[in-house]
Amino acid sequence: MQKTVQYNVEKVRQDFPILQRIINGKPFIYLDNAATAQKPRQVIETLDRFYKEYNANIHRGIYKVSEEATAAHEEARAKVARFINARSPNEIVFVRGTTEAINLVAHAWGRKNVGLGDNIMLTEMEHHSNIVPWQLLAKEKGASLKYVGITDQGILERYEFQQHLQSGAKLFAVAHSSNVLGTINPVRELIREAHKTGCCVLVDAAQSVPHMPVDVQDLDCDFLAFSGHKMCGPTGIGVLYAKGNLFDEMVPFHGGGEMISEVHPYESSWKPPPYKFEAGTTNIEGAIGLGAAIDYLSNIGLRKIRLHEREITAYAIDKLSRTKGITIYGPSDPQARGGVVSFNLGDVHPHDMATLLDEDGIAVRSGQHCAQPLHERLGIPATTRASFYLYNTEDEVDRLANSLERVRGIFKL
Ligand code: PLP
Repeated sequence: MQKTVQYNVEKVRQDFPILQRIINGKPFIYLDNAATAQKPRQVIETLDRFYKEYNANIHRGIYKVSEEATAAHEEARAKVARFINARSPNEIVFVRGTTEAINLVAHAWGRKNVGLGDNIMLTEMEHHSNIVPWQLLAKEKGASLKYVGITDQGILERYEFQQHLQSGAKLFAVAHSSNVLGTINPVRELIREAHKTGCCVLVDAAQSVPHMPVDVQDLDCDFLAFSGHKMCGPTGIGVLYAKGNLFDEMVPFHGGGEMISEVHPYESSWKPPPYKFEAGTTNIEGAIGLGAAIDYLSNIGLRKIRLHEREITAYAIDKLSRTKGITIYGPSDPQARGGVVSFNLGDVHPHDMATLLDEDGIAVRSGQHCAQPLHERLGIPATTRASFYLYNTEDEVDRLANSLERVRGIFKL
């Protein structure tokens, strides 16, 4: 298969200092991008500049450096809004990451809108972050969780989705793209169907926003959550988007400074969103660093990044499936999946696999990837996961395939 050139990958790789490392005597191959992405020097230098030139608390200092920090922080919010095509920066709340974003919705929207006997609809392929907050809410409110099952190829069972909608689900919380199977769910269609029954939809976009163009107005989702660290930004910053005036109707998540309008001994009033949900000193440099990551990815182009990853994934599936004894999970059609390839090789434990690949300088993830119910559904204890990003190459896939042959040799498969 001839790979089309989307951008100069070798030039992109020069931007990532960590990719120059030698691990165990071999060039470092980073294939754990679904866990976190590496950082380009443009993001690292933005953080460096923040600390050297305009580190100050925001929204409260009446002096130049604080005003510079505030302006950079709010410019980052505007960049996020433009990146996902939100109507306004006021629809963007900065949080620690996807996990906190989902907990915010469970707390601030869920407690008001979910009650005794209500249903919350999830899918069998969710990350623990999109399961546990809903379990906590359901227990507190006497609500039930309903799971949309998946086929053996990792595709959602649409008739179950319909059934749960008909039985009156209040909220549908769904991964845009699975961190284990790679499945890209048809969220646009699902949202249209859910809205017909008045069901609210939260999209866990942790594995989609970093890798493909995502337009919240086109999707028409009610909430969308993602993490900065998975898209070349700093750790500890993430985004919760809420449509229109949804934030207005929600109660605060955390109380403290900065989210208030007035505080009296026995009562307080709140600032308008997004500030109502950003209590205390937030991750200022994280937001600014995320803005730099958005600039970096946008300069290359999300469409090109998606095409590059799709080609690498197709190549990887084709190449790895030639390894005797391998089982690859998820949809067979690379169009229907993101850059995540989870597999098992014979009865080699994924932890042994990851250790042996590390000897060859290759970083992969092994275990359940925070998706235990999914592994139970697949009937397997764990998987090894290789996940790709804009800087990975076919040559790296070849080296992974060679290492798998070495593992086969060691285990006499
Ligand atoms: N949802 C999905 C699909 C993920 O892959 C992840 C992280 O791996 C999360 C949620 C949680 O993201 P974070 O740990 O950044 O909060």
